[in-house]
Amino acid sequence: MAVRSYLDWNATAAMREEAKAAFAAAVSLAGNPSSVHAEGRAARALIETAREQVAALVGALPGNVFFTSSGTEANMLALTPAIETADEKRLRARLMLSAIEHASVRAGGRFPRDAIEELPVGSDGRLDLAALAAAVPKTPRPLVSLMLANNETGVIQPVDEAAAIVHSAGGLLHVDAVQAVGRIACDLATLGADLLTLSAHKIGGAKGVGALIRAREDIHFPEPLIRGGGQERGLRGGTENVAGIAAFGAAAAAAGERRESEAGHMAMLRDELETGLLAVTPSAVIFGRGAGIERLPNTTLFSLSGMKAETAVIAFDLEGVAVSSGAACSSGKVQPSHVLAAMGVVGPLLRGAVRVSLGWDTAETDVEKFLAAWRKLATALSKDQRGIAA
Ligand code: PLP
Repeated sequence: MAVRSYLDWNATAAMREEAKAAFAAAVSLAGNPSSVHAEGRAARALIETAREQVAALVGALPGNVFFTSSGTEANMLALTPAIETADEKRLRARLMLSAIEHASVRAGGRFPRDAIEELPVGSDGRLDLAALAAAVPKTPRPLVSLMLANNETGVIQPVDEAAAIVHSAGGLLHVDAVQAVGRIACDLATLGADLLTLSAHKIGGAKGVGALIRAREDIHFPEPLIRGGGQERGLRGGTENVAGIAAFGAAAAAAGERRESEAGHMAMLRDELETGLLAVTPSAVIFGRGAGIERLPNTTLFSLSGMKAETAVIAFDLEGVAVSSGAACSSGKVQPSHVLAAMGVVGPLLRGAVRVSLGWDTAETDVEKFLAAWRKLATALSKDQRGIAA
């Protein structure tokens, strides 16, 4: 098979070699981590090492890391009216979230629909802090959920400023850091997050593992999503995914160690890709690119009037380049992006958005291959348009 260029790392990253090794070692262990015998203790040790590694990645205490089956489940677990803290045991009446959250946050967890309030973002793709500051005081003890970086545009959100606003109104802040961690600095205390969601497969672990991390031990969830054998200190019943968790830990350690060099490498290639893209089609729009807007180092979301995202993704695929049309969704259907719609993008640009996301393994040749495919596609598009105009 011809060599392909995988440029869809925001959908899922390649598994890191360290994570594969940890996964393989763990699947050969027989023990159940809840068993008291030596085999059980060996499995338990893998989980506790991984807990330390994941905690270290975000500056948390290991005891505050709870493993789940995914980022989606961690979000679902976090977004509940029943979150207790040392000085607040009453239910939280409202959930506030930005209009650009991932579907797993937009679903609102265990809040009823009419208790969920969506907050606007600006045309730069960032949460409107003034709208947050106006909304928060109207609600006693709100729970606010804000992503650290958007999965489609890569735009980094003003989380620390949002945290100050939320805390001044007695609220709690949940941060979905799934796309940000391993790519930019992500420290619980600096962010001011009370709760943080991570997903293993975005940092080079296995698919189907995530974590909810609390900033303090006094944050409690009296109503777990899955009850049963009391695993994860009662918060998530079910025998743990030992191999997936061990791989998550190994991936977290590697991501933490190499973050700065990997981010530098990705940013260099991303800049090259964007310069090349605009050289071929100067009228292409790269969303969230502009002075003063911070983006992930690996993500480019672009559109060109007259281009249909689904056609473009297929054309790239035929040229051996895997990209996506905004967020990957289980139905495989392309729907206009709620993120771009929230940013005020309309019409053909909204329907044509294609996301290119790079990873630590991406090479110069991948960018060249992307640009060669783009030249071909742009030429075909302009011929089509001339045909329509004639
Ligand atoms: N949050 C964000 C921002 C994401 O991009 C994703 C996955 O794409 C998730 C949550 C869900 O993570 P998982 O795939 O582990 O359920």
